[in-house]
Amino acid sequence: MAVSVTSLGHDLFLIDGFMHGEPERLACYLFDTPERVLIECGPSGSLHSLLEALDDLGIDDIATLAVTHIHLDHAGGAGHFALRYPNADIAVHAKGARHLADPSRLWSSAVRVWGAENMETLWGPMEPIDKDRLMVIDEGDRIPLGGGRSIEVLATPGHAKHHVVYLEDESGGAFVGDAVGMAFPHGHMVQPVTPPPDFNPDLVATQLRRLADRDPGFLGFAHYGPERNPPKALAEAESRLWEWIRWVQEAARGGPEHLAEAMRTWVLDGYRAEGYSEAIIEQYDKNTFWPMQITGILHWMAKTGSLG
Ligand SMILES: [Zn+2]
Repeated sequence: MAVSVTSLGHDLFLIDGFMHGEPERLACYLFDTPERVLIECGPSGSLHSLLEALDDLGIDDIATLAVTHIHLDHAGGAGHFALRYPNADIAVHAKGARHLADPSRLWSSAVRVWGAENMETLWGPMEPIDKDRLMVIDEGDRIPLGGGRSIEVLATPGHAKHHVVYLEDESGGAFVGDAVGMAFPHGHMVQPVTPPPDFNPDLVATQLRRLADRDPGFLGFAHYGPERNPPKALAEAESRLWEWIRWVQEAARGGPEHLAEAMRTWVLDGYRAEGYSEAIIEQYDKNTFWPMQITGILHWMAKTGSLG
């Protein structure tokens, strides 16, 4: 089994979660500080890769697993992780905590997006987490790292109601989960992530501007890795977000059939026109579930009456 660990300096490591058995799908960030904090654990289906990397690093104890939000590609394996690291608290936003204590509603909402037949292979099962293991966090809270360092919590609804971004001064990192979108290391292109039921572009844009105001040294994307030009990435995230909204508004006027495939063609052709290589475009395409993007944007439009 492949293990990939990269030092980012300041006792911070990027661990490839090998989600779906593939490299560069999910980034986990480990602060190997007196009180160790791991950001994201990924789904239970690929948790063995993360655990193997932690074993390789000689990590026998973790103080806190901090998830940016409870979507299964970020937190699906949190229950199994809690069993493996019995001293770890699981930090999660107040609006997500009860769904980690009882994952049944989270699971059925994921079934609506991904289809029941795909759940086991994509994500693997979920384990409930004892309530007393949950560290319920919200705007302004701090997660200790020891040695005078800590992680600041920014509540960032938009991608999901239960989304937070973690800021850490010494490394300069803003660990953004899906709040900004996804940006793969060889393309440096930011693509929106627009899942139902919470996706709200006005809120996403608000968070992008709040993040820009904090002027982080890098954005630690979950999908995938550190992006060292935050102002450019945040500006691109916002412009592409509104491009997507405008496109879906236009396309939805013609009826919803084939919307997902039409959107895929439009987006990927756009990347070609911008000069990105086929290898980079393929990486974004393989990591995008197009029907989910369409459904989230349409859901927001139906809720807010902004459908064209
Ligand atoms: Zn997400």
